[in-house]
Amino acid sequence: MIVEARGVSRSFGSTPALREAGLAVDAGEIVAVMGPSGSGKSTLLHCLAGIFTPDSGEVWFDGRRLDTLSDARRTELRRTAFGFVFQFGQLVPELTVADNVALPLLLGRVRRRDAYPRADAWLERLGLAELGKRRTGELSGGQAQRVAIARALVGGPRVLFADEPTGSLDSLTGEHVMDLMVGLAREEGTTVIVVTHDARVAAFADREVIVRDGRVTDPLGAAAARVPG
Ligand code: ADP
Ligand code: ADP
Repeated sequence: MIVEARGVSRSFGSTPALREAGLAVDAGEIVAVMGPSGSGKSTLLHCLAGIFTPDSGEVWFDGRRLDTLSDARRTELRRTAFGFVFQFGQLVPELTVADNVALPLLLGRVRRRDAYPRADAWLERLGLAELGKRRTGELSGGQAQRVAIARALVGGPRVLFADEPTGSLDSLTGEHVMDLMVGLAREEGTTVIVVTHDARVAAFADREVIVRDGRVTDPLGAAAARVPG
């Protein structure tokens, strides 16, 4: 088990977003989190990644409580152990592609002469070698998402959190981006937790869980529980 939520509840004002949600993810697993809009998927992802703290319940990462760490240590853990890909890549448009990918390394005090070759190697793996000197503001949606994936993976994260990573792309580009993301994650042994409402995106995962009204259900687990025996 690398990532786990136990009985996690979180409200926004009087709106409950998660109600005692539980999810356990094994190292190297690729899990799709599905469910209707507003059901709590993003909130669950943010809690697992230590971006939101739950109102109650526990979040664990690699045998350690994440939700009770100080903000500083949680931020440090996020920076070193987690990668993030969101619907809109959140790249810095004024910077070049290579700068954007090298940025997490530079922020982690890796020297420029080490950071840029590593960034270039990831750009190559994502088929973006030609684009290193472009500004990210000039890229197509699919190219920008691939850059975001390179940036999320360049630091060698243990877990990649993705929230609707294909949400801004047409379906063919989206499938291509998912294929790349999942392929690279498997090569690296990176655990992936991906929020999506798209069944074609979820098809790349090892396992699907469904969030409904702030609760998590595992469709296979639920089906197994209905089998008499
Ligand atoms: P999903 O990702 O499944 O669409 P979310 O986790 O974004 O669902 O939202 C779950 C519920 O919590 C929704 O009712 C949403 O409006 C509410 N919510 C999420 N984030 C906030 C926030 N920052 N402030 C207020 N309400 C929020
Ligand atoms: P998703 O596409 O995953 O459903 P949303 O577009 O609903 O996510 O939300 C995007 C961001 O806005 C998230 O950070 C979420 O926490 C926040 N958010 C969602 N619902 C609300 C809300 N009702 N009020 C304020 N912020 C919200």
